[in-house]
Order: sequence, then structure tokens, then C-alpha cells
Amino acid sequence: MKKKILIINTGGTLSSVAKEHGLTPDITTDSMMKELHIVAGEAELTTMDFMSLDSANIFPEDWAKLAEIISDNRDKYDGMVVIHGTDTMAYTSSMLSFMLQNIPIPVVITGSQLSISDPVADAMENLRCAIFMAQTGKSGVFLAFNRKVILGCRASKVRSISFDAFDSINAPNVAEISSLGMKVNEDQLPKKSGIFHLQNNYSRDIAVVKMFPGMHRSLLNSLAKEGCKAIYIEAYGLGGMPYLKHDFIATIQKLVDQGITILIGTQCRFEGSNLNVYETGRRALDAGVIQANDMTTEAAVTKLMWVLGQTNDPKEIRDYFNISLCGEVILQK
Ligand code: ASP
Repeated sequence: MKKKILIINTGGTLSSVAKEHGLTPDITTDSMMKELHIVAGEAELTTMDFMSLDSANIFPEDWAKLAEIISDNRDKYDGMVVIHGTDTMAYTSSMLSFMLQNIPIPVVITGSQLSISDPVADAMENLRCAIFMAQTGKSGVFLAFNRKVILGCRASKVRSISFDAFDSINAPNVAEISSLGMKVNEDQLPKKSGIFHLQNNYSRDIAVVKMFPGMHRSLLNSLAKEGCKAIYIEAYGLGGMPYLKHDFIATIQKLVDQGITILIGTQCRFEGSNLNVYETGRRALDAGVIQANDMTTEAAVTKLMWVLGQTNDPKEIRDYFNISLCGEVILQK
């Protein structure tokens, strides 16, 4: 039986053309039909042009709508492929992983570094990988790029020009294509934890702060005054923060006491944070911060937005960060 695959186009470089003000998405799925059929093999394709945006213009309301379209169509297709700009693709793949937990089919996001109209583009190869993964029946949200399939909530854009633009952070790839074909690493597939239902509520009342020596701690107070209910801080190394001459930890303590959630991760791309090791981390834990552990920034930020869409209770928010919802985190023992 031919597998039915829905291709949802949201724009990005893959569908871009050169215009007066630079590259902009303008190619519809109708005009890519020939290329899509070349890479689709046996699959029966249906296409949908949902948006035509550079992914810098994608906002959470687009994630919510996209998740709804995927949810509404899940019983009609064996798998789905979402064409998306690469710049915010890992945020979208992370947020869809939370909004579509336990989705019963594969949802595979892809894009390319060059337009499908360019003869040397990576577009066909990436689409081939995504459509192939969408036919495997392996359920979950994934990102396919450069012959790799990455768990959606573990992906990060790590190169701005190369075809190998995405890495799987702190987790092995879910699948790879080599001369032996596609090899799926079953251990890396998301574990089902319940029945599927669309959960696309979110909150935008969060902020992300990258710590640097010399940063004013009053910035954190300003964010709280502006209405942020949670702040994700990319701290140093294993998650350390200053407390001597400039006592960030005292500032954080006051914010936590006001009911603001402070999530601490690391600026290091690989291996995650562990606040238990240094005094600079332990003091933060004592002040009531939550650890991001080995989550990517994309997963930490979107999980925070998603969790705040489910609850405002600081204790429940903490509980959500003490579990892995879809493979986004390995918690410390
Ligand atoms: N600026 C583009 C986008 O994110 C980049 C790309 O697709 O590669 O939409």
C-alpha cells in the first residue's frame, strides 16, 4: 500500500526566490510538484501551502495553528512533512514536540540552505530524507537535514552556511542515511506516555537572558516589571552565576519569592548544566531556581512557553521540569 504523506509548506529558503530586497519565500508546492515527486518514491503526496514566510517571521501563534492543522489531519495520513526555514526550525520542532506529544504518526520538519530552484541545492536531499522518514511509521516529531534525522526537541541550528546545519544536541541522531540505506536508532525514538490530544496553549510571558561578566542584575528586575512570569538564564559552564561583588543570586531569590520562575541552563552547546557541582550553582539552587539540565536552549525556551500555557502555579511549573515530556531532557539522578 502506498503511504499517504501530507506536505505542509511554511516557506524558508527551500521555497525562496531572489527579489529586489533579497531572498524571499515565493515558490508554492504546486510549482515544486515535479521535484517532490522525484524524491517521494512510492509515496502518495498531498500538499498544503499554509504560509510563505522567512522563518524569522514565524511566531508562537503560527506554531499553535500548525499544530492544530497537523492534529486535525493526523488520521488521514501515514506521515507529514513540514517545509520550514532553517533559522527558527529548531524552535518550531521543539515546540511541536510539546504541543503534539504522543502524536501517532511521524511529523518531519525540513528545509534547506539553498532554494529548490538552485541546481546545486540540498533541498531535494533533505526532502527525500524527510519524506522517507515520514513513511516509516515511527511516530513523533523529527527534524531531517543532511541525511540525518534528529528528535525535534534535540535539534539546534549550529552552522549558518554549511549543508550540515543541524546537530542533535546531547542525544544521538534518530536515523541516518548512508550507502546502507536509512538506519533508525530505535532507542532514540520518543517513548509514548499516553494518548494523543492537541495541547497547543502557550504563553509568551518569558524572557531569555545570556549572562556575561558585567551584566546589570537590575535587568532581571526590569523583565519581571515588564510582566515576565519566567526567565531562562543561560549561565556559565555547568550553570554558575555571580554572587560576590554583584549578587545575582540575591536578586533571583527575591524574584522566586515573588512567584517568578527562574530556569538556569548553560551557554555551552554540549553536555548541559549541573548546578550541584560548584558553589555558584548550589547557591542558585538554594534560592529556588530550576535546572535545565541537558536541554537545548530551543527546547528550554519552548518548554517554558508551553508549560506556562498549561499552568501558572510555580510548583506545577517545577514539576513539569522534573520530567521529560518527549525526550527533551535527561534528568540528573
Ligand atoms: N532565512 C531563512 C529562513 O529561516 C533561512 C533558511 O531557510 O535556510 O526562513
